[in-house]
Amino acid sequence: MRFIACRSQQRVFIISILGLLTAPTFLSAQQKGDPKLTEVYSPVPKIVTPGQSCGDAPSDAVVLFDGSNLNAWRSVNDTTAPAGWTVADGIITVKKSAGNIETRQSFMDYQLHIEWRIPENITGEGQARGNSGVFLASIGSGDAGYELQVLDSYNNTTYVNGQAGSIYKQSIPLVNASRRPGQWQSYDVIWTAPRFNDDGSVKSPARVTVLHNGVLVQNNFTLKGVTQYIGEPFYKKHGASPIKLQAHGDKSEPISFRNIWVRPL
Ligand code: MG
Repeated sequence: MRFIACRSQQRVFIISILGLLTAPTFLSAQQKGDPKLTEVYSPVPKIVTPGQSCGDAPSDAVVLFDGSNLNAWRSVNDTTAPAGWTVADGIITVKKSAGNIETRQSFMDYQLHIEWRIPENITGEGQARGNSGVFLASIGSGDAGYELQVLDSYNNTTYVNGQAGSIYKQSIPLVNASRRPGQWQSYDVIWTAPRFNDDGSVKSPARVTVLHNGVLVQNNFTLKGVTQYIGEPFYKKHGASPIKLQAHGDKSEPISFRNIWVRPL
Protein backbone atom coordinates (compact mmCIF):
# COMPACT_ATOMS: atom_id res chain seq x y z
CA MET A 1 0.00 0.00 0.00
CA ARG A 2 2.86 2.31 0.86
CA PHE A 3 4.47 1.66 -2.55
CA ILE A 4 1.19 2.32 -4.38
CA ALA A 5 0.75 5.57 -2.47
CA CYS A 6 4.27 6.62 -3.46
CA ARG A 7 3.60 5.75 -7.11
CA SER A 8 0.42 7.80 -7.20
CA GLN A 9 2.21 10.68 -5.47
CA GLN A 10 4.93 10.50 -8.14
CA ARG A 11 2.28 10.63 -10.85
CA VAL A 12 0.70 13.71 -9.26
CA PHE A 13 4.15 15.30 -9.03
CA ILE A 14 4.92 14.64 -12.72
CA ILE A 15 1.50 15.98 -13.77
CA SER A 16 2.10 19.08 -11.62
CA ILE A 17 5.50 19.68 -13.25
CA LEU A 18 3.95 19.30 -16.72
CA GLY A 19 1.26 21.74 -15.66
CA LEU A 20 3.82 24.31 -14.57
CA LEU A 21 5.71 23.96 -17.85
CA THR A 22 2.58 24.65 -19.89
CA ALA A 23 1.19 27.29 -17.50
CA PRO A 24 3.04 30.40 -18.72
CA THR A 25 1.12 30.52 -22.04
CA PHE A 26 -2.17 30.14 -20.19
CA LEU A 27 -1.28 32.63 -17.46
CA SER A 28 0.00 35.26 -19.88
CA ALA A 29 -3.27 35.01 -21.79
CA GLN A 30 -5.13 35.48 -18.51
CA GLN A 31 -3.00 38.42 -17.41
CA LYS A 32 -3.71 40.51 -20.51
CA GLY A 33 -7.06 41.75 -19.20
CA ASP A 34 -7.74 44.16 -16.33
CA PRO A 35 -8.28 42.24 -13.03
CA LYS A 36 -10.31 45.17 -11.69
CA LEU A 37 -13.05 44.37 -14.19
CA THR A 38 -14.01 41.35 -12.05
CA GLU A 39 -13.62 42.96 -8.60
CA VAL A 40 -16.87 43.87 -6.82
CA TYR A 41 -16.95 46.36 -3.90
CA SER A 42 -20.62 46.68 -3.05
CA PRO A 43 -22.87 45.90 -1.38
CA VAL A 44 -20.50 45.45 1.57
CA PRO A 45 -21.72 42.53 3.76
CA LYS A 46 -23.11 43.70 7.10
CA ILE A 47 -20.87 42.93 10.06
CA VAL A 48 -22.19 40.13 12.29
CA THR A 49 -20.33 39.13 15.43
CA PRO A 50 -20.44 35.34 15.74
CA GLY A 51 -21.11 33.64 19.07
CA GLN A 52 -18.16 32.93 21.34
CA SER A 53 -18.49 29.22 20.85
CA CYS A 54 -20.28 26.90 18.47
CA GLY A 55 -24.04 27.26 18.80
CA ASP A 56 -24.03 30.65 20.54
CA ALA A 57 -26.29 33.26 18.97
CA PRO A 58 -24.60 35.64 16.53
CA SER A 59 -25.20 39.38 17.03
CA ASP A 60 -28.04 39.66 14.51
CA ALA A 61 -30.07 36.65 15.69
CA VAL A 62 -33.56 36.75 17.18
CA VAL A 63 -33.07 34.85 20.44
CA LEU A 64 -36.05 32.56 21.02
CA PHE A 65 -34.77 31.05 24.27
CA ASP A 66 -31.75 32.24 26.25
CA GLY A 67 -32.33 30.10 29.33
CA SER A 68 -34.55 32.52 31.22
CA ASN A 69 -38.17 32.41 30.04
CA LEU A 70 -40.67 31.46 27.33
CA ASN A 71 -41.75 35.01 26.53
CA ALA A 72 -41.06 34.47 22.81
CA TRP A 73 -43.48 31.51 22.77
CA ARG A 74 -47.20 30.86 23.16
CA SER A 75 -49.58 27.94 23.43
CA VAL A 76 -50.76 26.49 20.10
CA ASN A 77 -54.08 25.31 21.55
CA ASP A 78 -54.85 28.86 22.73
CA THR A 79 -52.63 31.39 20.95
CA THR A 80 -53.61 34.07 23.48
CA ALA A 81 -52.13 31.96 26.31
CA PRO A 82 -48.46 31.71 27.29
CA ALA A 83 -46.46 28.58 26.51
CA GLY A 84 -47.06 26.18 29.39
CA TRP A 85 -43.84 24.18 29.28
CA THR A 86 -41.39 24.07 32.20
CA VAL A 87 -38.35 26.34 32.43
CA ALA A 88 -35.76 25.41 35.06
CA ASP A 89 -31.97 25.53 35.29
CA GLY A 90 -31.75 27.33 31.94
CA ILE A 91 -33.57 24.69 29.92
CA ILE A 92 -37.09 24.08 28.63
CA THR A 93 -38.72 20.73 29.33
CA VAL A 94 -41.79 19.63 27.40
CA LYS A 95 -45.01 19.55 29.41
CA LYS A 96 -47.10 17.16 27.35
CA SER A 97 -50.41 18.16 28.95
CA ALA A 98 -49.84 21.76 27.79
CA GLY A 99 -49.68 20.74 24.13
CA ASN A 100 -47.54 22.18 21.37
CA ILE A 101 -45.92 25.62 21.66
CA GLU A 102 -44.97 28.07 18.91
CA THR A 103 -43.12 31.35 18.51
CA ARG A 104 -45.12 34.57 18.81
CA GLN A 105 -43.15 35.96 15.87
CA SER A 106 -43.65 34.64 12.32
CA PHE A 107 -40.87 33.95 9.87
CA MET A 108 -40.32 33.27 6.17
CA ASP A 109 -36.80 32.14 5.25
CA TYR A 110 -34.34 31.70 8.10
CA GLN A 111 -31.36 30.04 9.72
CA LEU A 112 -32.32 28.27 12.96
CA HIS A 113 -30.24 26.82 15.78
CA ILE A 114 -31.87 24.65 18.43
CA GLU A 115 -30.49 22.19 20.97
CA TRP A 116 -32.38 19.24 22.43
CA ARG A 117 -31.74 16.42 24.86
CA ILE A 118 -33.35 13.03 25.26
CA PRO A 119 -33.48 12.11 28.98
CA GLU A 120 -30.78 9.67 30.04
CA ASN A 121 -33.43 7.38 31.54
CA ILE A 122 -35.62 7.39 28.41
CA THR A 123 -37.95 4.42 27.99
CA GLY A 124 -40.23 3.26 25.22
CA GLU A 125 -39.43 2.21 21.69
CA GLY A 126 -39.91 3.24 18.09
CA GLN A 127 -41.87 6.47 17.73
CA ALA A 128 -42.73 6.34 21.45
CA ARG A 129 -39.18 7.07 22.64
CA GLY A 130 -38.35 10.74 23.07
CA ASN A 131 -40.62 11.91 20.26
CA SER A 132 -40.90 15.65 19.70
CA GLY A 133 -40.38 17.78 16.63
CA VAL A 134 -39.49 21.15 15.23
CA PHE A 135 -42.18 22.39 12.85
CA LEU A 136 -40.28 24.68 10.53
CA ALA A 137 -43.49 26.52 9.75
CA SER A 138 -46.59 26.08 11.90
CA ILE A 139 -49.62 26.57 9.69
CA GLY A 140 -52.39 25.77 12.14
CA SER A 141 -53.33 23.89 15.28
CA GLY A 142 -52.06 20.48 16.31
CA ASP A 143 -49.24 19.16 14.14
CA ALA A 144 -50.11 21.18 11.02
CA GLY A 145 -46.90 22.24 9.31
CA TYR A 146 -43.55 20.85 8.24
CA GLU A 147 -41.90 18.64 10.87
CA LEU A 148 -38.21 18.05 11.35
CA GLN A 149 -38.39 14.97 13.56
CA VAL A 150 -36.90 14.86 17.05
CA LEU A 151 -36.59 11.33 18.47
CA ASP A 152 -34.15 9.10 20.31
CA SER A 153 -32.54 7.40 17.30
CA TYR A 154 -29.30 6.45 19.07
CA ASN A 155 -30.26 2.81 19.42
CA ASN A 156 -33.90 2.69 18.49
CA THR A 157 -35.42 1.20 15.37
CA THR A 158 -38.36 2.82 13.62
CA TYR A 159 -39.35 3.67 10.06
CA VAL A 160 -36.35 5.54 8.68
CA ASN A 161 -38.36 8.43 7.25
CA GLY A 162 -39.50 9.04 10.83
CA GLN A 163 -36.19 8.84 12.72
CA ALA A 164 -34.30 11.83 14.12
CA GLY A 165 -33.19 14.18 11.34
CA SER A 166 -35.95 13.10 8.96
CA ILE A 167 -38.42 15.44 7.36
CA TYR A 168 -41.27 13.40 8.74
CA LYS A 169 -42.42 10.75 6.24
CA GLN A 170 -40.82 12.66 3.35
CA SER A 171 -37.05 12.49 3.59
CA ILE A 172 -34.76 9.97 5.30
CA PRO A 173 -31.71 11.64 6.92
CA LEU A 174 -28.50 11.15 4.91
CA VAL A 175 -26.85 9.62 8.00
CA ASN A 176 -27.75 8.93 11.63
CA ALA A 177 -25.71 11.47 13.64
CA SER A 178 -27.55 10.85 16.93
CA ARG A 179 -25.87 11.15 20.31
CA ARG A 180 -26.75 8.84 23.19
CA PRO A 181 -29.61 9.81 25.53
CA GLY A 182 -28.53 12.31 28.19
CA GLN A 183 -26.27 14.25 25.81
CA TRP A 184 -27.21 17.57 24.20
CA GLN A 185 -27.74 17.51 20.45
CA SER A 186 -28.19 20.30 17.93
CA TYR A 187 -30.03 21.09 14.75
CA ASP A 188 -28.85 23.86 12.47
CA VAL A 189 -31.45 24.49 9.79
CA ILE A 190 -31.62 26.60 6.65
CA TRP A 191 -35.29 26.97 5.76
CA THR A 192 -36.69 28.43 2.57
CA ALA A 193 -40.44 28.90 2.95
CA PRO A 194 -42.76 27.91 0.12
CA ARG A 195 -44.20 30.67 -2.07
CA PHE A 196 -47.74 30.63 -3.44
CA ASN A 197 -49.56 32.25 -6.32
CA ASP A 198 -52.72 34.30 -5.69
CA ASP A 199 -54.87 31.34 -6.76
CA GLY A 200 -53.26 29.18 -4.05
CA SER A 201 -51.07 27.13 -6.39
CA VAL A 202 -47.43 26.60 -5.48
CA LYS A 203 -45.04 29.16 -6.94
CA SER A 204 -41.97 27.52 -5.36
CA PRO A 205 -41.94 24.64 -2.84
CA ALA A 206 -40.24 24.75 0.58
CA ARG A 207 -36.60 23.69 0.79
CA VAL A 208 -34.54 22.69 3.81
CA THR A 209 -30.95 21.95 4.75
CA VAL A 210 -30.29 20.42 8.19
CA LEU A 211 -27.13 19.68 10.15
CA HIS A 212 -27.58 17.31 13.09
CA ASN A 213 -24.75 17.71 15.59
CA GLY A 214 -22.82 19.49 12.83
CA VAL A 215 -23.34 16.65 10.34
CA LEU A 216 -25.34 17.20 7.15
CA VAL A 217 -28.54 15.14 7.22
CA GLN A 218 -30.80 17.05 4.80
CA ASN A 219 -29.19 18.67 1.77
CA ASN A 220 -31.47 21.30 0.24
CA PHE A 221 -34.39 18.87 0.24
CA THR A 222 -37.49 20.04 -1.63
CA LEU A 223 -40.60 19.32 0.43
CA LYS A 224 -43.66 17.75 -1.16
CA GLY A 225 -45.94 19.67 1.19
CA VAL A 226 -46.91 19.52 4.85
CA THR A 227 -45.73 16.48 6.81
CA GLN A 228 -48.52 14.02 7.41
CA TYR A 229 -48.93 11.17 9.90
CA ILE A 230 -51.45 9.53 7.57
CA GLY A 231 -51.67 10.11 3.85
CA GLU A 232 -49.72 12.07 1.29
CA PRO A 233 -48.21 15.53 1.74
CA PHE A 234 -49.87 18.50 0.09
CA TYR A 235 -49.48 22.26 -0.05
CA LYS A 236 -51.97 24.80 1.22
CA LYS A 237 -51.30 28.52 0.76
CA HIS A 238 -49.78 30.38 3.71
CA GLY A 239 -47.38 33.19 4.40
CA ALA A 240 -44.91 33.89 7.21
CA SER A 241 -45.44 31.37 10.03
CA PRO A 242 -44.39 30.62 13.61
CA ILE A 243 -41.87 27.90 14.46
CA LYS A 244 -43.55 25.18 16.53
CA LEU A 245 -42.27 22.57 19.00
CA GLN A 246 -44.15 19.32 19.49
CA ALA A 247 -45.58 17.88 22.70
CA HIS A 248 -45.94 14.34 21.41
CA GLY A 249 -48.52 12.14 23.06
CA ASP A 250 -46.24 9.17 23.75
CA LYS A 251 -45.69 7.97 27.31
CA SER A 252 -41.90 8.34 27.38
CA GLU A 253 -40.08 10.83 29.60
CA PRO A 254 -40.32 14.44 28.28
CA ILE A 255 -37.34 15.84 26.40
CA SER A 256 -35.66 19.24 26.86
CA PHE A 257 -34.57 22.17 24.68
CA ARG A 258 -32.12 25.03 25.12
CA ASN A 259 -30.22 27.72 23.21
CA ILE A 260 -32.72 28.53 20.46
CA TRP A 261 -32.13 31.36 18.00
CA VAL A 262 -33.13 32.28 14.49
CA ARG A 263 -31.74 34.60 11.82
CA PRO A 264 -34.41 35.74 9.34
CA LEU A 265 -32.88 35.80 5.85
MG1 MG B 1 -42.38 14.16 16.24
